[in-house]
Amino acid sequence: MKGLNQLAYEIHDRNIEKGFFDDKKNIGEMLMLMVTEVAEACEADRKDRYMGKEGNWLVDRISQIQFDDTFKIQYDTDVKGTFEEEMADIFIRLLDMCAFKKIDLNAHVELKMRYNSLRPHKHGKKY
Ligand SMILES: [Mg+2]
Repeated sequence: MKGLNQLAYEIHDRNIEKGFFDDKKNIGEMLMLMVTEVAEACEADRKDRYMGKEGNWLVDRISQIQFDDTFKIQYDTDVKGTFEEEMADIFIRLLDMCAFKKIDLNAHVELKMRYNSLRPHKHGKKY
């Protein structure tokens, strides 16, 4: 698996190619677009739109489709609007912003995980 930073820069480069960075970016807007993906995940859960137990098998099958037209049809049928898709959307927006802001996400995740390991149960909070 690729490192987070490598993936972040690949996502960011594609988003630049797609024109998402043609205009000056507003950090508040970028953060709110992450929130919209969280809201879509909430809706997917409310509608019980999960790929479910067959998910891993389906993902393997769909990812092996050679022709883009067929891939898109299958993706729209099996993945579009699922909780799993929205998790990917959240992650993609997060990584895009980290690359845009030149944040070393690998290092920061490692730092934070170590810090969290030193904190008390539930980090000293109720939940
Ligand atoms: Mg989405």
